[in-house]
Amino acid sequence: MKIAITGGKGGTGKSTVATALAVELAKSKKVLLMDADTDCPNDHLILSIKRKKENDIFQLMPKWDFRKCVKCGKCAQVCKENAILFVKGKYPIFVPDLCTGCGACILACPTKAISKDKQIIGTIYSGTGYGVDLLTAEMRIGYEEASPIVNALKKFSSKKEKKYDYIIVDTAAGTHCNVISALLGCNLAIVVTEPTPLAAADLNLILQLCKVLKVPTTVVLNRSNIGNKQLIEKIIRKYKTKIIAEIPYKKEILEAYSRGKPIKDKSITQIIESIK
Ligand code: SF4
Ligand code: SF4
Repeated sequence: MKIAITGGKGGTGKSTVATALAVELAKSKKVLLMDADTDCPNDHLILSIKRKKENDIFQLMPKWDFRKCVKCGKCAQVCKENAILFVKGKYPIFVPDLCTGCGACILACPTKAISKDKQIIGTIYSGTGYGVDLLTAEMRIGYEEASPIVNALKKFSSKKEKKYDYIIVDTAAGTHCNVISALLGCNLAIVVTEPTPLAAADLNLILQLCKVLKVPTTVVLNRSNIGNKQLIEKIIRKYKTKIIAEIPYKKEILEAYSRGKPIKDKSITQIIESIK
């Protein structure tokens, strides 16, 4: 079973829930935890896991031979990422950090002045702790697009997934392409939220996205004893989903988090009961 832990809004406690759930499940099952929050993966920090580098993630990158360039500007016209700047009468200027490696400029060039090269856009790491196998991918500093990193992580993990009972996918916050990549193929999305107006707005967006992707959802309410729970209940009714567990705002949870330990709370047992 592949379960995404997602949240719409950042800082709701996704990674806290993902790590605690993985650790609890790993007491009786084989569990793979995939940290797909590639901008700033932190599951290894929460579980105090020392990571080992598996491999770098490469992406196609265009390379120019200006001796063949006739300054027509067609490469810039087809680049949807605005990674090529063109001024009439000048050679094109390439901005590598915006390039997603689609290859359109190579196909569009009439004189074959652009060839294929590659760049490192991220790195995949692995580790083990608390009985949980961890796979995590980290985006190269300065690179802009997270979804190719998530896709590379999924491809890497697909070779190993068969030996696990549960695969927990800790997604990035928001509803951007990288979150969509992480959600695709999951049997369930557990959406972690909190009782605040901003979290309610983002909960609406992520539940809408899951509906479009046809991924079933349930909701975990973090910091449930502060804020306004009615805001969340209104959104939950709209999408006909349900709250399966509530995590209170309490000192023991904050202490565990800040010491690099998975949280222990009855809410994690409730989540496990709901997914069985
Ligand atoms: S490979 Fe795609 S994104 Fe990169 S510069 Fe060429 S057209 Fe733009
Ligand atoms: S499409 Fe080719 S020939 Fe035209 S400006 Fe770009 S690199 Fe030069």
